[in-house]
Amino acid sequence: MSEINVDVLVIGVGPTGLGAAKRLQQTNLASWLIVDSNETPGGLASTDVTPEGFLYDVGGHVIFSHYKYFDDCINEALPQESDWYTHQRVSYVRFQGGWVPYPFQKNIAVLDPEERARCLEDLVDAALEARVRAAADKPRNFDEWNIRNVGNRLNEIFMHPYNFKVWAVPTTKMNAPNVSARNADPAPTSSSRPSSWPTGRSRRQTERRGGKPGPYWSVTLEVSESAYKPVRHETLLADCVRGLVATELLAPGDEIVSSYVRRFEHGYPTPSVERDGALAESLPHLRDKGILSRGRFGGWKYEVGNQDHSFMQGVEALDNVVSGGIELTLNSPDFVNSRSNTERRLAHFGGLRN
Ligand SMILES: Cc1cc2nc3c(=O)[nH]c(=O)nc-3n(C[C@H](O)[C@H](O)[C@H](O)COP(=O)(O)OP(=O)(O)OC[C@H]3O[C@@H](n4cnc5c(N)ncnc54)[C@H](O)[C@@H]3O)c2cc1C
Repeated sequence: MSEINVDVLVIGVGPTGLGAAKRLQQTNLASWLIVDSNETPGGLASTDVTPEGFLYDVGGHVIFSHYKYFDDCINEALPQESDWYTHQRVSYVRFQGGWVPYPFQKNIAVLDPEERARCLEDLVDAALEARVRAAADKPRNFDEWNIRNVGNRLNEIFMHPYNFKVWAVPTTKMNAPNVSARNADPAPTSSSRPSSWPTGRSRRQTERRGGKPGPYWSVTLEVSESAYKPVRHETLLADCVRGLVATELLAPGDEIVSSYVRRFEHGYPTPSVERDGALAESLPHLRDKGILSRGRFGGWKYEVGNQDHSFMQGVEALDNVVSGGIELTLNSPDFVNSRSNTERRLAHFGGLRN
């Protein structure tokens, strides 16, 4: 087998590797190669096609970018307006047979009066306790952080069960975020109105490449799994359909023309209580060996683990290798998430520190 020598080897053709490769191509300052163990590129940010011709993204894969450079790159790749679907985000939480707009904690106005009063009482208690708490008294985990932010009752009926469903890890085993990057802003308001609830059967047509003529609509379900929350694989699809019927998203007689199940070993980089300590040891250790471990699982920082963040971790890692540029995304998640990052542009390249 012939040997290939390059200055930079990029492992993984997911968004992170693609960010690094794009920057390598743009700067043209180093020889490089990008490889993937999978047959198709895209990593988790890819789309599968079912035998019937329906397209399924891995999860939602909505683009909400924090970076102009990322926007420049995707606009270069998909320049036409018709290349994009633009949606208004509408999210609801199924609760006690009804629908509560998300963020739940901001919409307790739609709860029944007794439940609303319990939530409010605990919220007031949490706010009063916060006033007298010493600055050095930090929450030890995500559960404590939630209780301090929304009070006991909202934690009990929403934060705790919701986060367990998402992460498949108890919130007591997850770290307390510095900012509210993991959930929507906890401050409650009463802005929701019944008229903003979902109306019956609003359906979105699924793009289709074959099969019977539509119209079709689709639903994607994410089911988390862990040692804390095992899943019965043999009955997963049937259990999901039962859940859809129970929540009235499907009617019992509805025809399902296509279904698709894919299991991933890794989906979410859980911010465990031990995470920051482990990263403080492992990332410098790898760096000493000439390896920059970056991206959703390479950097293991959920707060900067979306497509835009991952892509930019690749770009910034490359700038760091070639010219010592600062890796803001990996090292300062709150900073990049709190601003529009407009300094780096695709068209403005005039040196590695642009
Ligand atoms: C269910 C779900 C929903 C999501 N929804 C959104 C969303 O709405 N919006 C959003 O912005 N982001 C979303 N994301 C996050 C998005 O998928 C990630 O940000 C992105 O895919 C991370 O890119 P990455 O390159 O770091 O990792 P990955 O996408 O995991 O890519 C890693 C690549 O490396 C390859 N690889 C791994 N190990 C090796 C090896 N040893 N040798 C060679 N190749 C290897 C893999 O085959 C893969 O192609 C979602 C993720 C999930 C799981």
